[in-house]
Amino acid sequence: MITAALAPAPQESPAPLPAGRWQAHWRQAIRDPAELLAGLGLEAADLGVSAQALAQFPLRVPRGFAARMRPGDPADPLLRQVLPVDAEMRVVPGFSFDAVGDGAAKKATGVIQKYRGRALLVATGSCAINCRYCFRRHFDYAGENAARGAWEEALAAIAADPSIDEVILSGGDPLALATAKLAELTTALAAIPHVRRLRIHSRLPVVLPERVDDELVHWLAGLPWPLAFVIHANHANEFDASVDAALARLRGAGAQLLNQAVLLRGVNDDIDVLAALSERSFAAGVLPYYLHQLDRVQGVAHFEVDDARALELHAALRARLSGYLVPKLVREIAGDTGKRPL
Ligand SMILES: *Cc1c(COP(=O)(O)O)cnc(C)c1O
Ligand code: SF4
Repeated sequence: MITAALAPAPQESPAPLPAGRWQAHWRQAIRDPAELLAGLGLEAADLGVSAQALAQFPLRVPRGFAARMRPGDPADPLLRQVLPVDAEMRVVPGFSFDAVGDGAAKKATGVIQKYRGRALLVATGSCAINCRYCFRRHFDYAGENAARGAWEEALAAIAADPSIDEVILSGGDPLALATAKLAELTTALAAIPHVRRLRIHSRLPVVLPERVDDELVHWLAGLPWPLAFVIHANHANEFDASVDAALARLRGAGAQLLNQAVLLRGVNDDIDVLAALSERSFAAGVLPYYLHQLDRVQGVAHFEVDDARALELHAALRARLSGYLVPKLVREIAGDTGKRPL
């Protein structure tokens, strides 16, 4: 979730696949708020569900993720991350459409570089889940595409700049692409001698752990670089045995696992919840990396936690947890040389 621009068209595989394949789980995601709420024994009217917000950014929730929501709880932290509600339609000053300046940081088709040494490759605009707080809600998906031609421009830009030693696969969610496609990409990257590390940012191990199949693990294990794998979980309840198993397989393939979370009002703006997230992440082999202040895009203001409260929560975390369990509290500011600590 670290790039706001350049997202290509979401990809859907045309042919039906056998049950058990991750693509089938992907396609079977819940898209109807009424279905999601009925499964939880909740009423749409009580929750402020908004048809307008739904039209602006569709609901999409993998069934396995929905199964981790608490039935009968309208304040469930996982439900709140995905349910389109009236508050999103409020126009709030200071909340824009390109909050993190990605439009200005485009280096080539599919490549964003804001920070020294790290180039971000926008692999695809697709995600398995639609998170309401994400700036992705405003993308023009038709604008770019992940076809082979687009890789070539991106790869040429990386090859031409020896200062880039780390390539970050991002999106959308890069693991939305078929593994064969990802392998094509890393084979081409392996021919660029100054690339020395690979990083993958993906929410899929958490929201669709079926994605971490044998083929994916085999591809990762065969990569020629040290691998950082940044997952995205905002609440301890997002973990279950299937997620633990997926994460264990990623570690088995040699990935260093890190978690980035977004600080979200009504989801995790609580010391006990944040401490539990760090502890649960670590139990699954994942070190806390970043706790982000959200990007100020239209439709997310109701999730915002003010800086004073964010700093107070962060101080409380430091006072409670081992140092390595405390994520860095940061905000992204357009034009900065890196994520800015609060
Ligand atoms: C966030 C981000 C990165 C990664 O920053 P780190 O602090 O190294 O995690 C790299 N490129 C872009 C464009 C980003 O937005
Ligand atoms: S997984 Fe969620 S937060 Fe990440 S890019 Fe997709 S919609 Fe945004």
